[in-house]
Amino acid sequence: MSFQPLGLDAKILQAVKEAGYTEPTPIQTAAIPPIIAGHDLIGIAQTGTGKTAAFTLPILTKLAEQPPGQRRATRVLVLAPTRELVVQIEENIKAYAKHLPLTVATVFGGVGEQPQIRALRAGADVIVACPGRLLDLMGQRCTDFSQLKFLVLDEADRMLDMGFLPSIRRIVQPLTKQRQTLLFSATLSKEIEALTHEFQKSPKTVQIGRRANPAETVTQLVYEVPKHLKPALLHHLLRDPSMDMVLVFSRMKHSADRIAKALEQKGIRTATLHSNRSQNQRLKALKDFKSGAVRVLVATDIAARGIDVDGISHVVNYDFPMHAEDYVHRIGRTGRANAVGDAISFVTPDDHGELRSLERFIGRGIVRRKAEGFNYAAGVPADYQPERTPRSQQQRNPNSQRRQPQVQPQRSSSSGNRSGGNRGRSGQSSGQQRGRW
Ligand code: AMP
Repeated sequence: MSFQPLGLDAKILQAVKEAGYTEPTPIQTAAIPPIIAGHDLIGIAQTGTGKTAAFTLPILTKLAEQPPGQRRATRVLVLAPTRELVVQIEENIKAYAKHLPLTVATVFGGVGEQPQIRALRAGADVIVACPGRLLDLMGQRCTDFSQLKFLVLDEADRMLDMGFLPSIRRIVQPLTKQRQTLLFSATLSKEIEALTHEFQKSPKTVQIGRRANPAETVTQLVYEVPKHLKPALLHHLLRDPSMDMVLVFSRMKHSADRIAKALEQKGIRTATLHSNRSQNQRLKALKDFKSGAVRVLVATDIAARGIDVDGISHVVNYDFPMHAEDYVHRIGRTGRANAVGDAISFVTPDDHGELRSLERFIGRGIVRRKAEGFNYAAGVPADYQPERTPRSQQQRNPNSQRRQPQVQPQRSSSSGNRSGGNRGRSGQSSGQQRGRW
């Protein structure tokens, strides 16, 4: 199917063509017509499914139909959890709106306020923002939402996890009710449902993919390895030139730095992405990774959430993820929009229980692989530094709702809930999905 029947504006179709997209992804096919028809929408889809275009293309179509009024009041507000995601959404909007006379402003913390204030005061048709900084700037009367037509809550589950709900409420409360509200989330939990009742009017729900099932285009592999050999195994695997754009996940910020340092010492160009790095450092790391100036990006889960980089050849779970959600998000960084990719998980003897739980959760076993030519019998290297931080202190947002007692995946007989879809054999409810393995 082409984009033609979806009812998009001709200038937007042109931009889509120039972006090289020939057919809509499933979330785009499902979400674009109801948004153009004026409905509120709940989109249950993970990053990597083309969800940004799924809301951007119909919104731009509606904006193109309605020329701006006298004042340049903001007509679209997109809220997103991280600065990286805000920047990516802005890039997407600018690409799809390239033939339209629209202005886009971004708002996020960690950088000076003044340029953002100037951009808002000049008038922006579209604002893409993280909730915290936006609230500050609304307090300084920099925004004009009197003509607002669309409110988008992107990665709403993540925004709740990060404790943004009070800020979101304060942002949304004064907004005009004469708007369309679109909410996107990887999961449909009770908290998300409550949010939809609070902010939306009779929303349509579209759900793409099985929530607990990682992208089918990703080859998932497990490499069993003693903990002290993880650095050597990573280096060994990176001898393979097909690993040309590699995203490595570590649990902790300091171990991300340590992994990167070790690779750099071996001549492998590497950058890091975690919350101890400044905004400029994070943007530079992403830019260098995208451009190929660095081959490996080592990231923590929170920092990597939502990053949209085409062409990642491999994701390496250097540290086994603590949550099923994190595994799904991590490996979704590769194999995006139907490209193929490999997801490699290092599994130490300590991780075996969690691996079994993960396999139950995703409803399939993961292939075990041995690294050819790798010396599994090697002793502890002289420069090996064991992990210092216990799991309970690993990088985690203090407001995260995932701080819950351990919950094991369970079988459930419920099948008639709103989220529908196949959740994998574990049949977890969304609340359970947030628990530890
Ligand atoms: P998203 O889920 O919005 O993060 O998008 C994931 C990736 O898919 C991005 O790199 C988009 O540029 C790309 N993409 C979006 N729509 C399409 C499409 N219809 N065909 C191919 N790629 C797409």
